Amino acid sequence: MGERKGQLKYYPPDFDYKKHSSLNAYHGTHALRERAKKIKQGILVIRFEMPYNIWCAGCESHVAMGVRFNAEKKKVGKYYTTPIFEFDMKCMYCDTHYVIRTDPKNFDYAIVSGARRQEKRFDPSEIANLEPVDREMGQKLDNDAMLKLQHVHDDKKKSETNDKRLSVLKKSKDPFKDDFRVNSLARLEFRTEKEKIKSLAEADIGFRSSIGLGNVKLADETPEIVEMTKKLMRGRSFAQAYQPEAGSSKSSLQKMIQSSTSIAKKRTKVELNSQKKLLLSVIKPKPTLKSNVSK
Ligand SMILES: [Zn+2]
Repeated sequence: MGERKGQLKYYPPDFDYKKHSSLNAYHGTHALRERAKKIKQGILVIRFEMPYNIWCAGCESHVAMGVRFNAEKKKVGKYYTTPIFEFDMKCMYCDTHYVIRTDPKNFDYAIVSGARRQEKRFDPSEIANLEPVDREMGQKLDNDAMLKLQHVHDDKKKSETNDKRLSVLKKSKDPFKDDFRVNSLARLEFRTEKEKIKSLAEADIGFRSSIGLGNVKLADETPEIVEMTKKLMRGRSFAQAYQPEAGSSKSSLQKMIQSSTSIAKKRTKVELNSQKKLLLSVIKPKPTLKSNVSK
């Protein structure tokens, strides 16, 4: 809100540029208003968002990551040239103050007092992830010439082995490299297939309209059907057209007909048996009293 109040641009009649230089100076206020109440102590009030889950040290209440506080921000030191800031904020439920600092060395925030961090950090090497830059190793390399020499040697070896693997991978990919040829082959095949389907469909339409079949779907033309049609056209009956020829194996259609006939026969047999049983149970004489006693 303070920021928006600072946007008012009304210049009173007694305002003098030479004397006041700015509207804020004229009103005797800071541009950030109440947020800059303690600016003389180097403290600015900002909205601080909790970077991780914490527990309050005073009331043990849980504060989730992302909860925002009005925190007093001040500069407390430097890590090389990077300033370290400290944030001071009050707990929502008790009088404890959380003090949290930026930690430029580890790219993190460190709790100074007033809270405990919920540990959810993990070791990247354990989950086969890319490890972040190891700054300690970098410092060691800068200070130790022999270590650096060894490190460079190891790196070269590693790159050589990786080069071999890369070249093998590249070779294995070569047959698929000519994208244009692969694409044109695929398109040619697709085009031929499409033309074939189209010509068949046209022939079907012509045939259907010539004999007035309308939209009846025609079966695919197989050698078996062609043979059968020829026989029928020679004047044989349907049954004759399906007689197996000497020495030839039975056609699939015949096998199908035969199996369906045998199933029908079996079904009739089962039905007859069950009817017989039913009939017998009806006319079965009841056991006499005498036989019951003897049992
Ligand atoms: Zn608390």
